[in-house]
Amino acid sequence: MGLTIDTGAIVANWRALAGRAPAARAAAVVKADAYGLGAPRVVAALYAAGARDFFVALAKEGRAIRPHLPDDARINVLSGHMEGEDLAGLVPVLNSPAQFFRDRVMRPGQPFAIQLDSGMNRMGMEAGEWAAIRAEALAANGGRGPDFIMSHLACADEPDHPANAAQLAAFRAMTEGCAVPRSLAATGGILLGPDYHFDLVRPGVGLYGGLPFAEARQVVRLSLPVIQTRQVEAGEYVGYGATWTAGARRRIATVAAGYADGILRALSSSGASLYAGGAACPIVGRVSMDLITADVTDLSSVPDALELICPEQPIDRLADFAGTIGYEVLTSLRQRYERTYL
Ligand SMILES: *Cc1c(COP(=O)(O)O)cnc(C)c1O
Repeated sequence: MGLTIDTGAIVANWRALAGRAPAARAAAVVKADAYGLGAPRVVAALYAAGARDFFVALAKEGRAIRPHLPDDARINVLSGHMEGEDLAGLVPVLNSPAQFFRDRVMRPGQPFAIQLDSGMNRMGMEAGEWAAIRAEALAANGGRGPDFIMSHLACADEPDHPANAAQLAAFRAMTEGCAVPRSLAATGGILLGPDYHFDLVRPGVGLYGGLPFAEARQVVRLSLPVIQTRQVEAGEYVGYGATWTAGARRRIATVAAGYADGILRALSSSGASLYAGGAACPIVGRVSMDLITADVTDLSSVPDALELICPEQPIDRLADFAGTIGYEVLTSLRQRYERTYL
């Protein structure tokens, strides 16, 4: 019962994605507590498998995993050097000239990386900003320069999108002649092929079983305890707002989890099901804070628990029902579940 996280599958997915980019080093993106699955466990398993480069969004996340990794693991902080932040043992990815100058004053001689904007307009230096500090950045730390220079693709999960080639060209133009490792690809970019791989790839969601890595091994199962079952007669309703009414006599199971556990309320009467040994039991009525109701009429016997995330309903299928993406399904899973790591 609870959330089962298959760390062996995470490692297998990391190896598979690394194998798609054999000329590059494979990092692992573990921001947001490894997409909700528990960063300390995930980084330890990936380090044991050979990963040495990790990415987090915030310095705070970096400090949380630093004690779980040996000194030769590099923890890169995507938000860069925010004012007053303790970056001991971390590598800030500097996103603006202001961050660059702050970092060089506060952390002279310490490793850093650079993020460039190649078109997404979310993070990183524009071409003109980079041109203005490029010589100083490349000469920093006794000529060693940044650990790497990176950018990020906006549309990598759509292989035919013209933004991919345009961003690739922009990144190449901005980094031409820099004798520094380069990084452009997350999960989607790895799958776009070798032009996008450069020296370091940064898979995230694919490690955790999510699209666009369609061949990923599933990592998560979520099993929810059944609290009670009842019979409802034709015309009786179930749940808040009385949004679902039985058309005939049905058996309804109530399970102990809801939107406070990160089960998106948009799954209410969405076509999503709870599963009993592979048999679908449609979610009926609204997902409430701590409870979900499902139609179990077709089961010969109701088990102690029903599954929400399972091979029949992986994270991206659930995401489709909720009108979102697998990333949000994963990162919404809350700490309240019993967790089992395989
Ligand atoms: C989140 C993130 C990644 C990982 O992306 P996935 O699509 O999950 O593989 C890589 N790089 C940056 C800059 C990111 O923000």
